[in-house]
Amino acid sequence: MKKHDPGYYPKLGEAPTSDRGLELWRCSILNCKAVASSSPGLPLRLPWDCEQRDHSTAKRLHHLTDESKRRNRLAVVKQRNSLPRVAEAATLGWKSQPHCGLSPKRNRYLVSPLAQSRVSQPIASIVLLLALGLTLSTAAQNQNRQPLPPEKRLRYQIHLTLNFENRTYNGVERVRWINRGDHPTSTLFFHLYPNIRFPGYTPPTEKTPSGDLISDEPLLEIMEVRAASNGAPIPFALDDQETTLRINLRDAVAPSAVVEFEIKFKGTVPEIDPEETGLLAHVVQQVSAAIRSTREVRRARDTNFRCRGVMMLGAAYPLLAARSGDDWFRRIESSIGDALMTDASDYEVTIDAPRIIAVYAPVPVQTVQQKEGANTSTFMAENLRDFAIVAGRDLRSEEKQVGEVIIRSIFRPDHEATARRVLKIAEDAMRVYLARFGPLPMKSISIVDAPLVSTMGSAEFAGLSAIASAFYIDFDSSTMRNMPEPIREQRASVEDSLEWTVAHVVAHQWWGAAVGNDPGREPVLDEALANWSALLYYRESHGEQQAASALEEQLRGVYKLYRTFGGDDMEAGRAAREYRNSFQYAAIVASKGALMFEALRKLLGDEKFFAALRDYYHANSLEVADMDDLRGAFIAEAAVEQRRTVNRTFDRWLSSKRGDEDIGPPDPKLAADLGLPARATAKPDRNVFTAFAKVGKFFWQQMTKIR
Ligand SMILES: [Zn+2]
Repeated sequence: MKKHDPGYYPKLGEAPTSDRGLELWRCSILNCKAVASSSPGLPLRLPWDCEQRDHSTAKRLHHLTDESKRRNRLAVVKQRNSLPRVAEAATLGWKSQPHCGLSPKRNRYLVSPLAQSRVSQPIASIVLLLALGLTLSTAAQNQNRQPLPPEKRLRYQIHLTLNFENRTYNGVERVRWINRGDHPTSTLFFHLYPNIRFPGYTPPTEKTPSGDLISDEPLLEIMEVRAASNGAPIPFALDDQETTLRINLRDAVAPSAVVEFEIKFKGTVPEIDPEETGLLAHVVQQVSAAIRSTREVRRARDTNFRCRGVMMLGAAYPLLAARSGDDWFRRIESSIGDALMTDASDYEVTIDAPRIIAVYAPVPVQTVQQKEGANTSTFMAENLRDFAIVAGRDLRSEEKQVGEVIIRSIFRPDHEATARRVLKIAEDAMRVYLARFGPLPMKSISIVDAPLVSTMGSAEFAGLSAIASAFYIDFDSSTMRNMPEPIREQRASVEDSLEWTVAHVVAHQWWGAAVGNDPGREPVLDEALANWSALLYYRESHGEQQAASALEEQLRGVYKLYRTFGGDDMEAGRAAREYRNSFQYAAIVASKGALMFEALRKLLGDEKFFAALRDYYHANSLEVADMDDLRGAFIAEAAVEQRRTVNRTFDRWLSSKRGDEDIGPPDPKLAADLGLPARATAKPDRNVFTAFAKVGKFFWQQMTKIR
């Protein structure tokens, strides 16, 4: 590799301060083969050296040509009235991590008096596992931010008719698409998320009385595509096992030109067995992931279903794939993490549904029109990466206003007490994040009590997060008051876990929704940062002491428990597909990854740390960020003599296995109490499961009564 000529682009500490300067700087990057640091402390690396050659190089170049991102950077520059440190640091060309996941729970066991009796120890550990499940999430990506005027934004006008009884819907969407690339194109790609099937999936053979096959997965069918101008049919095809809709326009769309067309579609969602969504199911799933290393993969039915009188449509319509320059990000990989990467768009959504069905979306309803037996609800939203819909007979909501943002808690009536608590936590978390990170591009966020299946504790979308109903436990209810003492004494653990999870999902509106990222390739960008943000909420809402115990229980404890169960340390920067299940994902991506941010905070101090985080947020809001953007923000904010250490901190947590040194080794006492093998690295065998099942049996029996 060759060193750069400092004359061609800004040195560290310098940066273009005008549009013209940025343009020259961009050209210099594009023309130079080597992009290097002028700081002697930093390794000279090229994006070209990255093992993920095609992706990150192409992405980097496109990033630099992306108009709105450039504007955001410029805005940050102007705002800080100093230098565009983010933009400048991005020129360093460090290697992004070639590899590249969920939720933590409390480990009362490791720190509390619970660990006193033979019975309560295993119970506490199971509760910890349960808490892990809470943090699993699906982040559907969100949005884009205001630098783009409305006429330059993508726009969906969707009319949806819900047949709640039959679990079906019909829809028409009018899409306004603008070519933000550098070349004309006539081919557009949409994700058909409901059609995704995990590898090896075989459909069930069960039939209805009328002879129709009963599907356990959702389905989205495309009926026709027409030009909006004259109604002429537009040819289309289904690719990638019908998970991608490819539209072939008759005429190419020039750069910056706009095209509008209509897609007619229909869909069905499966009925999920309520048993799959109960607390017992969640506990068993977590225990199984821990002990047997069960492989878990997200399914389309996890977020597109009907269950317990609630219908969730997580991504039920054709959704434009994200685009960077002229490249489409059309590929979706099944994993334990989130899959979709999309661009922020504006939405006008009209939903016809029976009058007895309450319909909720990421934004409060704008108007409701009543017709015979049906209501037509209209929603208007800007800058969302997706548009999730939740409908149900008994759903209700309460809301609060924090600054310009409305926070809603949406729930079933029997969960009212917990839902109010959720609303209060969300409100407090929102205040902390608004002050520390900056304002959100969306005007409302909603947290929904939804019957999620046991592999998911939560699911995140733009402006809307769902938390599994299984965790809406009211310990003051008569049901819980009649539970045996060993169950009731878990109250603090369960309630703390819910609090952590609420803080985590609220943070996803900054990390995942506002700042987008590829959750399959670099899940640490949203998952770890949202998890670290929950720790920030604890620190600023409850003080240092409670934050210290949350740090121990929700982050360090999760990693140590995972290691105690025999899980191997891994690099936190790997792709989501490389993690086996929610337990591993929670321990490595969500917990170990979050601890990297804590290490960076200690290294830089609060002032520089938060300045870096704010720069990263402002520069990438409504864009799709990658690890280089994050790393660049921190390196740019650090003093010159610290930059090497900052870079090494990223490497240490993301691409090396130093977890036992940095966090803690497996806990031999816990292993012994659970009957796990003495050598923590030994693979769990059947005897282990038998031993664990024995100690946990009492707990499980009791749990069956809680559902
Ligand atoms: Zn998450």
